[in-house]
Amino acid sequence: MTFLTIEGLHKRYQNAPGTALNDFSLSLIKGQRLAIIGESGSGKSTLLRIIAGLEVQDEGTVTLSGNPVLNPSQKLVAGYDDIQLIHQQFKLYPFSTAEENIKRPLIQYDKTYVKERTSFLLDLFGLTDKKDRLPKQLSGGEQQKVAIARALSIEPELLLLDEPFSNLDAIQKRVLLEELHDIFEEIDLTVIWVTHDLSDALAVADELCVMRGGKIVQRGKAAEIFSKPKNRYVASMFSRLNQLGQEKNKYIRPQHVLADTSGTGMVGVVKKCQFRLGYNHLTVLLEEENIYWRIQDSRRVFNLGDRLILTYNEKDVLVLEED
Ligand code: ADP
Repeated sequence: MTFLTIEGLHKRYQNAPGTALNDFSLSLIKGQRLAIIGESGSGKSTLLRIIAGLEVQDEGTVTLSGNPVLNPSQKLVAGYDDIQLIHQQFKLYPFSTAEENIKRPLIQYDKTYVKERTSFLLDLFGLTDKKDRLPKQLSGGEQQKVAIARALSIEPELLLLDEPFSNLDAIQKRVLLEELHDIFEEIDLTVIWVTHDLSDALAVADELCVMRGGKIVQRGKAAEIFSKPKNRYVASMFSRLNQLGQEKNKYIRPQHVLADTSGTGMVGVVKKCQFRLGYNHLTVLLEEENIYWRIQDSRRVFNLGDRLILTYNEKDVLVLEED
């Protein structure tokens, strides 16, 4: 059954050029974890604020569990306890411990429940042995976990995350994303996660939605979108694209190019060789076509100046509409 329904959202800010959201519709079932990816300015934050009831839309509706989500022009106190939105600039109480921060929203709840809920969340987020620390005595990742645990203290129905980890370093972020993936799965939480980073999205979500110019370009499982991208914009989110000769809309991904030093195929010379995790990234100048291709040398056997014969399987060719 549909849990969250968004229908026909339009939003245009006064004094701003363009439309932030343009006939945006989306639905989600309970327990689904959707990542919305798109470049900066594509309307992601506006969408989350409208879903949370914190921004007034020009047109369209948001419905959660059959109830309309009212915007600040329709409701005296903006926002809902059931819909929690977390940003990069979350604020913890600096003079309260991790535990006190987490239980703060539960101030009016029954004491036994508060104790149980807080210890459940501390345990779930692996923070039990750090519960007495102040925020400044926690790492960036741990502080972020406290912020999310606090948002979950009142058992919201929907968690919205707006680029929440942009200020963490890469190692902290990778560990945290793996932990959150498991935590959200364990408590069967419905999550919409907004990011411009595809690898973050893949680490946490079970479905992706690519957004551009206030609209959905494509939605689906990551593997489906990877193998059948709707257009060049979507395809290029996953990897560089090599154009096939004169054929304007046919492309091959670097990881699908087969390279050898003999045989028949297109001839190219290695102009650049960069070390990457798992492979060497080669820039190859194709002699006849006079264009550069990027290819992956996973055996790390080719060097600068090598003459390569390049082939590919027809099944890997992407035929893509322009954006
Ligand atoms: P994203 O989160 O994908 O970066 P946003 O929703 O923040 O996108 O912004 C979408 C568009 O709306 C952008 O063109 C942005 O400049 C504009 N915008 C966002 N917030 C405001 C605002 N408060 N006032 C005016 N324009 C805004």
